[in-house]
Amino acid sequence: MELDCLFCKIVHRQLATPLIDEDDQVIVFNDIHPQAPIHLLIVPKIHIASLLELPKKSYLMTHLSQCAIQQAQKNGIDSKGFRLVINCGPEGGQTISHLHVHLMGGRPMLWPPG
Ligand code: AMP
Ligand code: ZN
Repeated sequence: MELDCLFCKIVHRQLATPLIDEDDQVIVFNDIHPQAPIHLLIVPKIHIASLLELPKKSYLMTHLSQCAIQQAQKNGIDSKGFRLVINCGPEGGQTISHLHVHLMGGRPMLWPPG
């Protein structure tokens, strides 16, 4: 755990955030500033600073995808479509340095993103 990491605090229940789902590897909760009717964050329990670190824990990539699909199904957006986003680094729009996958859906997504 990184002491000054917001998402580590949520993982370790030092910050009260309602969880939508949890398993041995990830937690899932609503984004505090939703950009779509459904906007979930899928967050590994271990501290991984960004996508750049993910190859060291490559099993997690598969698990994150599986969780995202499962949540899309649970929210009924799998057939219409949805978007997964991993922001990486300052120019990639990453603001929290703990790897997370955004799952967004419930409206048509625009491309290219801003
Ligand atoms: P990123 O910009 O890709 O690092 O995404 C970080 C996301 O975390 C943003 O979409 C924020 O709205 C979201 N966020 C920040 N603080 C919280 C919080 N306490 N609970 C839920 N989501 C948060
Ligand atoms: Zn962390």
